[in-house]
Amino acid sequence: MHQMTLAEIARGLADKKFSSEELTKVLLARITQLDPQLNSFISLTEELAIEQAKAADVRRANGESGALLGAPIAHKDLFCTQGIRTSCGSKMLDNFKAPYDATVVAKLAAAGAVTLGKTNMDEFAMGSANESSWYGAVKNPWNLEHVPGGSSGGSAAAVAARLLPAATATDTGGSIRQPAAFTNLTGLKPTYGRVSRWGMIAYASSLDQGGPLARAAEDCAILLQGMAGFDQNDSTSIDEPVPDYSASLNTSLQGLRIGVPKEYFSAGLDPRIAELIQNSIKELQKLGAVIKEISLPNMQHAIPAYYVIAPAEASSNLSRFDGVRFGHRCEHPKDLIDLYKRSRGEGFGPEVQRRIMVGAYALSAGYYDAYYLKAQKIRRLVKNDFMAAFNEVDIILGPTTPNPAWKLGAKNSDPVAAYLEDVYTITANLAGLPGLSMPAGFVDGLPVGVQLLAPYFQEGRLLNVAHQYQLNTDWHTRTPTGF
Ligand code: GLN
Repeated sequence: MHQMTLAEIARGLADKKFSSEELTKVLLARITQLDPQLNSFISLTEELAIEQAKAADVRRANGESGALLGAPIAHKDLFCTQGIRTSCGSKMLDNFKAPYDATVVAKLAAAGAVTLGKTNMDEFAMGSANESSWYGAVKNPWNLEHVPGGSSGGSAAAVAARLLPAATATDTGGSIRQPAAFTNLTGLKPTYGRVSRWGMIAYASSLDQGGPLARAAEDCAILLQGMAGFDQNDSTSIDEPVPDYSASLNTSLQGLRIGVPKEYFSAGLDPRIAELIQNSIKELQKLGAVIKEISLPNMQHAIPAYYVIAPAEASSNLSRFDGVRFGHRCEHPKDLIDLYKRSRGEGFGPEVQRRIMVGAYALSAGYYDAYYLKAQKIRRLVKNDFMAAFNEVDIILGPTTPNPAWKLGAKNSDPVAAYLEDVYTITANLAGLPGLSMPAGFVDGLPVGVQLLAPYFQEGRLLNVAHQYQLNTDWHTRTPTGF
């Protein structure tokens, strides 16, 4: 039962082959049995899950339908869940029970999805390996000595290990696409503003976006359908109609213009990954796509710009966790300053503290113009590169990451080495564009992802291309041994 995709589950539930309650119990047992190896969950919500599953079965018996009605999922632990711990992977929020549901959580619950639990993540979504979580590192089911990627590493490891069919995640600089690539999943970061950020604990507000992580594009379409849409509680949410993502999956790729940026194939890219990307290009050509070389000349400036803007926004967003308004409070403070210092010093881990310091520095008087303003200008140049490219092509294709998943601990002493791994994903966040990663093969037994980028609000196009590719390849169907 656990091998079923979200689409297969939807069909099985509709045909009354099994109930949501039966399926939910199977998956909960599987999580209890296998997750100790992976550490992909921070909280399990067994009682809520059974209750939601029973309610979904009743709704279905009463004639309701819908692909998410009774479908088991989990939420990255930065989506607020009413009455349930919402930790953001941090000691700071270990005792925080959200007083309300995030819009994404509420929408999926209304569609009938069943919440199995809250997944592990890098602390405050800062990281690319899921090693900065206060709840411990998450292991990659493809090789337990390797990282699953981050920051949505818990969602990725759980779905990859078939503990559940799909999960929510968020992407500020790659945190949906990179763990998807590292664990052989399909993950979609929507256009900025497509999915509400209300109740999604902020890391860098102008970059953060929620989206689906699942095994195949078909499943991402189902989950995104339940997540997307205008929300008056989020002033950056965009009031655009939500198309039927499943309806466009079968559009032909005949004549699709795919741009391949020449800058993507530079020295930093593992040549074995480069070869797999070339294979995926050939596959798409067979399906009728036309390939064109393009250029994104400002790509080289994107990492420094991102690692100024994201920490700057984080330093402001995280100021509310001071032991007074929110978060961990130290014992016996001697005065207010001592309370702030020790609460924040005890509550935040080293990576979060590093970013708060970098961000506060970049925003401080005298440095603002030199760092933050300059980074914002680069951000515009990066966007302009994409706008120029999309005048010539429909989709941009390249690797999701320059290397496969690294060994646990390998980059712990060198944060910049980890930042450099984000080179292919962060440009989409800087520009606000949608991006998708899908399985493209293996290197040394570890999965590799190919990334597709599209113009604003063309999530449907990305899912369509990925689905057509997945109808003709079987990388995404491979299962890690032992799971
Ligand atoms: N690896 C990037 C960072 O550490 C992206 C994280 C994310 O997308 N949340 O900031």
